[in-house]
Amino acid sequence: MNKKQKKMLIRILISAALLIALSFAPVTGIARFVLYLVPYLIIGYDILLKAFKGIKNRQMFDENFLMAVATVGAIAIALYEQSGDYTEAIAVMLFYQIGELFQSYAVGKSRRNISELMDIRPDYANVEQDGKLEKVDPDEVEIGSVIVVQPGEKVPIDGVILEGSSTLNTSALTGESIPREAAAGDEIISGCINMTGLLKVKTTKEFGESTVSRILDLVENASSRKSRSEEFISRFARIYTPAVCYAALALAFLPPLVRMIGMGLAADWDIWIYRALTFLVISCPCALVISIPLSFFAGIGGASNAGVLVKGSNYLETLSQTKIVVFDKTGTLTRGVFEVNGIHHNEMEDEKLIEYAALAESASSHPISRSIQKAYGKEIDRSRVTDIREISGNGVLAKVDGHEVAAGNDKLMERLGIEYIGCHLVGTIIHVAVDGTYAGHIVISDVLKPHSKEAVRELKTAGVQKTVMLTGDIRRVAEQVAGELGLDAVYSELLPADKVEKVEALLASKPEKEKLAFVGDGINDAPVLGRADIGIAMGAMGSDAAIEAADVVLMDDDPMKISKAIKISRKCLRIVYQNIVFAIGVKLICLLLGALGIANMWLAIFADVGVMIIAVLNAIRALFVKNL
Ligand code: ADP
Ligand code: MG
Repeated sequence: MNKKQKKMLIRILISAALLIALSFAPVTGIARFVLYLVPYLIIGYDILLKAFKGIKNRQMFDENFLMAVATVGAIAIALYEQSGDYTEAIAVMLFYQIGELFQSYAVGKSRRNISELMDIRPDYANVEQDGKLEKVDPDEVEIGSVIVVQPGEKVPIDGVILEGSSTLNTSALTGESIPREAAAGDEIISGCINMTGLLKVKTTKEFGESTVSRILDLVENASSRKSRSEEFISRFARIYTPAVCYAALALAFLPPLVRMIGMGLAADWDIWIYRALTFLVISCPCALVISIPLSFFAGIGGASNAGVLVKGSNYLETLSQTKIVVFDKTGTLTRGVFEVNGIHHNEMEDEKLIEYAALAESASSHPISRSIQKAYGKEIDRSRVTDIREISGNGVLAKVDGHEVAAGNDKLMERLGIEYIGCHLVGTIIHVAVDGTYAGHIVISDVLKPHSKEAVRELKTAGVQKTVMLTGDIRRVAEQVAGELGLDAVYSELLPADKVEKVEALLASKPEKEKLAFVGDGINDAPVLGRADIGIAMGAMGSDAAIEAADVVLMDDDPMKISKAIKISRKCLRIVYQNIVFAIGVKLICLLLGALGIANMWLAIFADVGVMIIAVLNAIRALFVKNL
């Protein structure tokens, strides 16, 4: 709990304690009124102030206004009738504030979870000092410093390119899937990924002012991304609240006037004003206004406890309508930790082949590169490698000890016009060519994540109709994996841009109401994460770009969490609809009874506070997602 929430909790406790104590106090008359005013003002002063400000700015019809008018009205009735029954006005305020507090607590909790995940990501800037690269906290880099961004790294701070040229992946920032070329003199914004060349950048902003920091803020404010249900409620409240106020006014004045002028009867002002106020007390839409966002926050909170970060309630809503799930292979369904199965070569020794490959791969962040470096097992002397270029979906090119080394798949060899030899082993094949001649290949293979098969099966029970895998890997490997997992469709040998195209085709071929989710690790698939109806990223091994581009982040990379997330979202949406129907239904019935004079203040209390408590309790159910 933060300071503000603690303060509110104290206000609630004091006010509630006073209210209970006063119910035993035998005071009457004006003394009673003054005594009751104390807990009322303690709990409600800010609402009264906001309502007053609203009136002053002529934007008065919000829930603060209704709360203020309703409670002041209830107190006025008690005063007029000399009943001394001020409890309900205070109780209404009290429960309203409890709802608000609970809500802000739930928001804060899910926000913190998201920012914690972001915090554990390595965020550094490379600063060149005495010919050596040093990693420093980007917060410490002053404006005008020169930083070095290697291929595969995220640009940490906004700036201008001094030296080098490269292709930038800006999809995490703009959702734009087309890579951007950048060269000396161009501006560069933080958060995009440097894909190919080494860049020297002169910073033009501080880290805190840079694009990436601003985006992090955005992510942390998941609460501001409203779902359609929430928007419906605020639209509803915008029409409903003034309508109710005018109806109450009409109820107070029209019937007495008609009786007096039209029928020549006694006006009975007191009866009708009483009914109008009852009507107002009943009418407060707080059950809806509180419980709908609260249900979403509880859902987001429950999901984050389960290791699933959802960046906004709109995504929870979309997730609940997911009918197609598209997977990336490497790092998503497979562990992305490759073992070397075989090394085949012409004249070169095994060790030399691996060494060249590992050195050429030294700047890549692809799982394949990490695995080859691991297989090499020795310290990598970066000074032996220059001119590194990574071609996504193909492989890498680099100069090692002055030799042109190429390491990658069939496509890369074809691109370079180098004849290669296929392999009898099933696996991902990394061909290596040195100075334009084929040197041999390394066969590596990946294993499925332990829960992948179950995860795919569980998706079907969660109502997903179609599962698809997209991969840049070769067909044999792709089909083997897809067969083992029982996926409905598989597309292989795709470049990052082809993946976007495939997803776009899938999006176009389905009805609007059925949503498509893409699950990936962000390596060569960040653009797709942004393009799908909902992007789900692997949080632990996934790239920074993935976490930023995604709408949902799985903290432990377990694909089982996908069906879990869908089930959580379904439960949450079910609760939202229950609350909408229940609250509006009860309200309408009570309003009718109130207008007819059948409903008294007690029914009003039930309609107002009772419905709210029930709806809030129902909303809190969304937090409990363990057994889904
Ligand atoms: P996936 O779709 O399975 O996640 P990617 O699109 O990341 O796969 O990569 C597709 C293929 O491109 C890999 O199977 C590999 O053959 C080749 N490739 C990509 N990056 C590299 C690299 N750094 N080194 C060697 N090969 C690479
Ligand atoms: Mg991948």
